[in-house]
Amino acid sequence: MSICNEGENSKPGRRMSARMRWRFFGECLPLALALACMNTGALAGPPAAAEYGRIFDGAEPGGVLPARAILETLKAEPAPVPQVKPTAQAHGDVEPRLDEKRAHPYVAIQAAYIFGIKETPEIRFGAYLARSEGDVDVRREDGTICGGAYDEDHRDHIDGYLWPFTMCSHFWEADEGDCSKGLCRRRNAWRRGTLLWSGPEGVLPFYLKGDKARAYDRLGHVAHLLADMATPAHAHREFHGSDRCFLDDSYEDWMADGGYRKFNHNDAGGVVPIPWDKKPADMDSASFPLYYLFYTANQHADYFASDRTDGNARQRTDRAGWLDYSGWPDSPTRDQDLADNDPGDNDDDGDFTRIASKAFVYSIGATATLYKLFWETTHPRCEIPPVSGSSEIEVRALSTNLVPAQAVEIERRDPQGGWRSLGSAVRKSRQDESHELWSVAAGGAGGMLRARMKNAAGVYSDWCLR
Ligand SMILES: [Zn+2]
Ligand SMILES: [Zn+2]
Repeated sequence: MSICNEGENSKPGRRMSARMRWRFFGECLPLALALACMNTGALAGPPAAAEYGRIFDGAEPGGVLPARAILETLKAEPAPVPQVKPTAQAHGDVEPRLDEKRAHPYVAIQAAYIFGIKETPEIRFGAYLARSEGDVDVRREDGTICGGAYDEDHRDHIDGYLWPFTMCSHFWEADEGDCSKGLCRRRNAWRRGTLLWSGPEGVLPFYLKGDKARAYDRLGHVAHLLADMATPAHAHREFHGSDRCFLDDSYEDWMADGGYRKFNHNDAGGVVPIPWDKKPADMDSASFPLYYLFYTANQHADYFASDRTDGNARQRTDRAGWLDYSGWPDSPTRDQDLADNDPGDNDDDGDFTRIASKAFVYSIGATATLYKLFWETTHPRCEIPPVSGSSEIEVRALSTNLVPAQAVEIERRDPQGGWRSLGSAVRKSRQDESHELWSVAAGGAGGMLRARMKNAAGVYSDWCLR
């Protein structure tokens, strides 16, 4: 997998191409203006200069564009802008509409009906899915998946950006490559998703350290990005505001106004199978399932038009060739198809329903797959069946379609009380759909045995004994 140069933005003295200039004026500036026009109900003076500096740090082209001058103008503008306090809980300052804050938690909950509620003691109501079933109050959901799924728009755990700049990395034009930029030349949603998954402040490190509250919060953040991928505007990297502002995205507004309630886990088609034969040679096994989910969710949405961009069907094709679009609808694939949907964000001709029937329901199944990936990655298990004969020792290791086993260690207790390795175990056979047998030459008889497995994500099981 290509390593993205996330720091390239801050190289000094870089000339700004016409394309970059368009990106700045076309995306960053509207976003900055959106900050000034969003109706948050909490209006106060402009943010301090230091905050602006932070927002644009790294996104500002070195000395070519008078970005700071523009920001100075914004700061001097007497028009009130929302109060943003870097230290406060951002979601306390920005009051979203009721339904807008529920769409992401809704996906998080629907996914748990596919995988989580029955299969785990933790991805449940009353545990780490949400505090209670029913009317989830996202502002009291710190440390749960639902809380994180809501918070991703409002609290940035990776870069520390302030709303609405938190959303710059919620976009990915996957047709342009794995490293293509999000809005404002920030990293794309896939790159951000991997940082929230396995980066130092991500799901896996927190969980393995025993910090379940932070781990599940971050899992909600990843789930949010995955659901964003299934929205055409996010897959086209098309800046949008909302109804309250300008340049809204009619499909997203329709969904936020409750369109999502027309679909649930029964429409989603279950957990997404991961096709390992399609894994790119330069991608490691630990990254592939998450990448597959992000890319395919993105390409489900990219097929369709958004308000100002034609869909993939007419624009570019699925770069990896992983989707089969045969039988997919003809509309809405051109931006004109949505012209009659934009006024009032109505589902005229059923265009929004057609997008959601493919892309939104896929995001529910993909999120369930994310939960399963999380659970199996963090709960590797093995057991040593009764030893029959004296020539080899077998170990039964958890190995699934999502998280393959990578290595198995087997040791025998010597008379002095130490543990002695029996050499490297080899994969022997698949036992069932979730287990493999590994074995090693017994090298004698008697004595206690212990084994542990390491999975593709590098996570070790506890020692199993016999
Ligand atoms: Zn988002
Ligand atoms: Zn959006």
